[in-house]
Amino acid sequence: MRVQERLDSLIDEVLQRNPGEAEFHQAVREVLGSIAPALDKHPEFADAKIIERLCEPERQIIFRVPWEDDQGEVHINRGFRVEFNSALGPYKGGLRFHRDVGLGTIKFLGFEQVFKNALTGMPIGGGKGGADFDPRGRSDREVMRFCQSFMTELYRHIGEYTDVPAGDVGVGGREIGFLFGQYKRITNRYESGVLTGKSLHHGGAQVRTEATGYGAAFFVEEMLRARGDSFDGKQVVVSGAGNVAIYTIEKVHQLGGRVVACSDSSGFVVDEKGIDVELLRQVKEVDRARISAYVDVRRDADYRAGASVWEVPCDVAMPSATQNEISGAQAATLVRNGCIAVGEGANMPTTPEGVDVFLESGAAYGPGKAANCGGVAASALEMQQNASRDSWSFEQSERRLREIITAVHASCHATAEEYGMGGNYVAGANIAAFTRVAGAVLALGLV
Ligand code: GLU
Repeated sequence: MRVQERLDSLIDEVLQRNPGEAEFHQAVREVLGSIAPALDKHPEFADAKIIERLCEPERQIIFRVPWEDDQGEVHINRGFRVEFNSALGPYKGGLRFHRDVGLGTIKFLGFEQVFKNALTGMPIGGGKGGADFDPRGRSDREVMRFCQSFMTELYRHIGEYTDVPAGDVGVGGREIGFLFGQYKRITNRYESGVLTGKSLHHGGAQVRTEATGYGAAFFVEEMLRARGDSFDGKQVVVSGAGNVAIYTIEKVHQLGGRVVACSDSSGFVVDEKGIDVELLRQVKEVDRARISAYVDVRRDADYRAGASVWEVPCDVAMPSATQNEISGAQAATLVRNGCIAVGEGANMPTTPEGVDVFLESGAAYGPGKAANCGGVAASALEMQQNASRDSWSFEQSERRLREIITAVHASCHATAEEYGMGGNYVAGANIAAFTRVAGAVLALGLV
């Protein structure tokens, strides 16, 4: 059977074995759609059924999370941890708390994470977890009780050498603090390396908070540099207003670009003078308010409810909100308005139709697993510091992050060239990541 036919029948198998998990199907299709040339070169991977093994998580844990709200009402949520692949190191990946979380979401994120983590070149496997808990509108005490209940089950599955969770959508410094506190209490171990994204009090690392956004900006800068261009004077649109968006905006400004718009699930803000990061941080992270509060302070900025931020013309688009937030039509609007580069801070933010539009347009399109790997790379640096009981300065940490992103970009770029698909970062990222992780799986024998 020809390699692509074999891959297509594998995709069919994954669809049948995992019914109803549309996002997982999409992520598998995306990777398996790119790696045929690598299999041509490495028939040993097919013989050992490496792809079948990569599509089947090593372990999937689903558990009940009971908790009580401030009024004494009992709630039952569902918790997940999908330990996808540990060939390169302990399972590593974030926890997402969002009302839409289901097994298919966590499996898509875990699958992506395996390849993203491989791309960083660091010794980390891939996993992901979370819960269908909606933290919006919940008090700090409610969030604490939820995190404590969640960890009361999760603690038995994780560990510095086993599985190391971190944050993702809905899980930031506050939640990691509560989770670490409960882990420490139950186990009676000050095991800093069991979680990353910790506060600086508990063995957290400098630049981890900023790393996903900073890394995405560095990745786009590298893509622009490869084309003899730079951020200088570029108009940028960033979707989202969470941790990734905030630090993407901060770094784009430092690199000479101007971010004119950002969004949350209710609408978006346009600020032609450039988004005020301090104000955005105050509104979203301190006040935990809607983005519309931004224009209460910046009177000359404009808030548009219920509209798509992708209508705002830009040179560079940096989707940093959530999966499938750019449709084919929205990608076409961006390209028509002159967008020449896309760097994905979020995981799988562009639909397959949108990806085709970007690739056909010739824009520099940096897929999430490459463009946003700075977050997990900084987590690996945090693990390294925890293991050696060390803590690095902000400058040293940012320098390491920068070096890692430069190397990831170079690897994606060179791999695409090597396989005759120069400029295609989707092919470059998928093939580079796949060959690294597949080689590691193969060498471990049939386990
Ligand atoms: N949730 C982040 C991601 O999507 C970070 C994971 C981590 O630091 O382990 O890569």
